[in-house]
Amino acid sequence: MGLKTADQYLDSLKTLKVEAHVLGIKTDEPGRHGLVAPSRQAVAFTYDAAHNPESRETLRAVSHLCKDEVNRFTHLHQSTEDLVKKIKMQRYCGAMTGCCFQRCVGLDAANAIYSTSFDCDRKHETHFHDRFRDYWSWIQKEDLVVDGAMTDPKGDRSRRPADQLDPDLFLRVKERKSGGVVISGAKLHQTGMLNSHEILIMPTMSMRPGEEPWAICCAIPVDTSGLRYIYGRQASDTRKLERDTFDVGNPIFGGQEVMTVFEDVFVPEERIFLDGQVDFAGTLVERFASYHRQSYGGCKVGVGDVLIGATELIARMNGAEKASHVREKIVEMIHLNETLYCCGLACSSQGYPTPAGNFQVDLLLANVCKLNVTRFPYEIARLATDIAGGLLGTMPSAVDLNDPEIGPYIRKYLAASPDYNVLDRMKVLRLIENLTIGAGAVGYLVESMHGAGPPAAQRIMIGRQAELDGKVARAASLLSIPEELPSS
Ligand SMILES: Cc1cc2nc3c(=O)[nH]c(=O)nc-3n(C[C@H](O)[C@H](O)[C@H](O)COP(=O)(O)OP(=O)(O)OC[C@H]3O[C@@H](n4cnc5c(N)ncnc54)[C@H](O)[C@@H]3O)c2cc1C
Ligand code: SF4
Repeated sequence: MGLKTADQYLDSLKTLKVEAHVLGIKTDEPGRHGLVAPSRQAVAFTYDAAHNPESRETLRAVSHLCKDEVNRFTHLHQSTEDLVKKIKMQRYCGAMTGCCFQRCVGLDAANAIYSTSFDCDRKHETHFHDRFRDYWSWIQKEDLVVDGAMTDPKGDRSRRPADQLDPDLFLRVKERKSGGVVISGAKLHQTGMLNSHEILIMPTMSMRPGEEPWAICCAIPVDTSGLRYIYGRQASDTRKLERDTFDVGNPIFGGQEVMTVFEDVFVPEERIFLDGQVDFAGTLVERFASYHRQSYGGCKVGVGDVLIGATELIARMNGAEKASHVREKIVEMIHLNETLYCCGLACSSQGYPTPAGNFQVDLLLANVCKLNVTRFPYEIARLATDIAGGLLGTMPSAVDLNDPEIGPYIRKYLAASPDYNVLDRMKVLRLIENLTIGAGAVGYLVESMHGAGPPAAQRIMIGRQAELDGKVARAASLLSIPEELPSS
């Protein structure tokens, strides 16, 4: 099988029988649900883009595993150029869909597992790396979507996994059987889970001796027995179910997050890539998080492009685009957005080869990138809200717009610059609403804060990676201070 088209991808999901719960409805065909369909279209875009002459070069790479051309969303990075191309691909997809296109978590997980399984084999004489190579070569050939499942519910944050009242609050190996293990627990916030074919499960954090059952990394198909999916709500999501989708804001695409329950799920041995080696759980988490923190320097920038474009457009529609403070604010939005892009490119171009051969991003710069992502999209959204005006939060609905009695009042009183159609003005306001306070804000704002770990996690990594003692030594040497002074 070569690179799938969007239609082939959508067809391939129909054969998967899953137990999904979407807004109170139990379904084995979630893709048909109005809440799910736009998110599926966003993933389908990543398939289309690999065939579109405009983007196919960015979206394709040659795999060192299967030696074929593969979709870059399944590629194991072989150079810093690959890492840079990943960022460019993510910006492009973000700008074209205006939302989270969901396919990067699995990509980031694969790159982290590839190098971690290699290092683990070398230290512990395990055999995870070759298994993973075989598995991932198959993923590439079949051009599949893989969910990256890291985040456990974690229960009481002050307690370790074994100290929780319920041991399932961290996903764990519950039982060992011949030929595999039985896992139990849950993964929250799973991006694109119900648009995926496979799940890559990883530990949620560093583990210590005694926490071996929680140090598990493995893969299962999404239709494995014992899995249950509970669809996450997004702000204003039921607008997607309305007959007229005018009020949705982003009429074609959307994101998706799913709570996933693993109830005594059997995982065969050949799909296990870490099993109790607690000293590698933290390595895996750190590498995955760094790749995903790099990712945001691409995808959030692409969505930022859409928001900046919509904000400039609404300024023109309002007749305010020439005001000096509006110009300044638009430039500020661009500056913030491009700063994120710089971070994404910087941590990519400073990447380095791992002993396994694939390329890792620069950890310090990837964490700087993500820490900026926890702030800048919020500031960009604030400036967009400022320029858009209060209608962003108060505009009448599409139903009223289409009402023969009151619709004309809406058209009359929402008219602004005569150069623009009032309905187009309303559409732009809905798009800005979607990204700043609606369904799109889950991906653009909440995820910017928490996805790939909250800000405190980046600060810890920045503190660790900054080589502070080296900076102290350089300052001391410049001043001819012979020895480091004890800290007061
Ligand atoms: C839109 C979205 C999509 C996501 N997609 C995925 C995905 O595809 N796959 C995946 O695996 N995960 C995904 N995540 C999960 C994401 O990685 C987590 O939300 C993130 O790691 C934070 O974890 P939490 O939500 O449990 O918050 P918490 O860990 O509870 O953090 C909340 C606050 O408490 C603080 N805190 C927590 N524990 C401690 C402690 N012990 N000591 C001190 N302070 C503490 C944190 O620093 C933070 O300020 C997604 C999240 C979002 C919002
Ligand atoms: S948040 Fe961004 S990086 Fe993560 S899956 Fe969505 S689009 Fe990809």
